[in-house]
Amino acid sequence: MPNPPELADLLLVNANVLTMDPARPRARSIAVAGDRILAVDPDPASLRAREVADLAGATVLPGFHDAHNHMAWFGLTLGEADLRPAVVSTLAELYAAVTAQAAATPEGEWVIGAGYDQNKLEDHPDRDGLDRAAPGRRVWLRHTSGHMCVVSSAVLADLGMSERAADVPGGLVVTDAAGRPTGLMQEKAQELVGALVHPYPVAVLADAIGRASERYLSEGLTSVTEAGIAGGWIGHTPVELAAYQSARDRGRLGVRVELMIASDALHPLAAHPGDGLELGLDLGIRTGFGDDWLRIGAMKIFTDGSLVGRTAAMGDDFTGSPGNRGYLQGDAAQLTATIVAAHRSGWQVAAHAIGDRAIDLAFDAYSQAQQQYPRADTRHRIEHFAVSRPDHVSRAAQLGVIPVPQGRFATELGDGMLAAVGPNRQEWLYRQRSLLDAGLVLPGSSDRPVVTGAPLLGVHDMVNRRTGSGAAFNPGEAITPEQALRAYTSGSAYASHAENTKGTIAPGLLADLVVLADDPTAVSPAAIANITVLATITGGRCRFDLTGTLM
Ligand SMILES: [Zn+2]
Repeated sequence: MPNPPELADLLLVNANVLTMDPARPRARSIAVAGDRILAVDPDPASLRAREVADLAGATVLPGFHDAHNHMAWFGLTLGEADLRPAVVSTLAELYAAVTAQAAATPEGEWVIGAGYDQNKLEDHPDRDGLDRAAPGRRVWLRHTSGHMCVVSSAVLADLGMSERAADVPGGLVVTDAAGRPTGLMQEKAQELVGALVHPYPVAVLADAIGRASERYLSEGLTSVTEAGIAGGWIGHTPVELAAYQSARDRGRLGVRVELMIASDALHPLAAHPGDGLELGLDLGIRTGFGDDWLRIGAMKIFTDGSLVGRTAAMGDDFTGSPGNRGYLQGDAAQLTATIVAAHRSGWQVAAHAIGDRAIDLAFDAYSQAQQQYPRADTRHRIEHFAVSRPDHVSRAAQLGVIPVPQGRFATELGDGMLAAVGPNRQEWLYRQRSLLDAGLVLPGSSDRPVVTGAPLLGVHDMVNRRTGSGAAFNPGEAITPEQALRAYTSGSAYASHAENTKGTIAPGLLADLVVLADDPTAVSPAAIANITVLATITGGRCRFDLTGTLM
């Protein structure tokens, strides 16, 4: 007796499938049952399908996974003044946008904007300009890096800093020559502003997450790693996970989310001393808890600041800023102790480190953690890994640490970065190829909303490596379209300890797929950014369909 045919819910045929599975890189059809892939190139004689979709040669990839993004923050920016360089190119335009946002915001509510970059303007905006643009209003403009902001006089008055700045460890309230605050607040000084508006209501954040989710699906994303919730200047409320759970309960979470927890949200636990649980969340919840839709990822810790904002901790001066080597976001010994304690307590750790001095600190801490408390397969990460010396590459390989650079930074921030490091350190910027050559796994990520987050823009930049002005951006680190796609799929899955459930198209893995109008490995490198996303399938269900035929 022959076996009865297997039953698929959906059979995609006539497709150009790039599986990202080295065992079978190309295929023509995919069978889906429930939320999983049932078969790749199944034998038609042994399969029945409830529904067959002819893709007419369209390209299918595993759904994209952004390994470092800020989902609630991005969703919130969709309702704020858009100050990105593509929208405002002079300070006069920026102030006009603030005036318009103020007119659209009820009296008494904050006037909020995001995305400005002083490298693309004449300078940072200041309190006097904001006061003229929106008289009497509380105005809060966030820098594109997220590492600094500018506020109006009404906000400074709330903080008791109208005429004099307070000292803020790990941050700076910038003043003019006369000692009067200009409105610019760097790094941890932003927490003072945050304290005035935090906590955000869960319902507001859940809405923001829902809006972000819709955008993500339209861009082919099926998974994102959220790079820091619930604490520090990056968090919106100590109960931030509840906002994701609420969005999911209301059916508004169309992508899978892994949540990094800000280090400030972790605290000492009253566990048995023999458990080694020094630091964590209540109930002992840590990395890995959750399910395929919503789970806890790494502890996120900031060791330094921003490269374009020139607050990153560098081994040598920023070019053109004699004496300025940036700063660490805390006492080095304390940062190290937190990383070691989190490692000991079972957490994956993701250390934000931009400058080479901050990267040294992260490696030293990971190395010390492994020596004191050996643990297999930790996959600790260094977020950004922006200015890395050659010895940092071998050290990452030796320690099994995953650097997580952002491709899109080349176009949107690259000119400011080249200026900040000068000619002698340009080959240290945002490595990709040297990481792959050293045998490391490369994830794909955007840091959205710091830059535009569509994955195909990231892939485009990882291949082309050009700044906004057209300058070459450390071109020796360019990689192939195939390598960039692998980063945004299986590479990101690996960084989440999830390569056995997603990131490739293979039987038994989650049916998370993106359908593209063109094959990124077959078009000219310059055309990758313009490829149309036709459909996005998460968990076997089509959640975005430009063609109207798959839903
Ligand atoms: Zn980030």
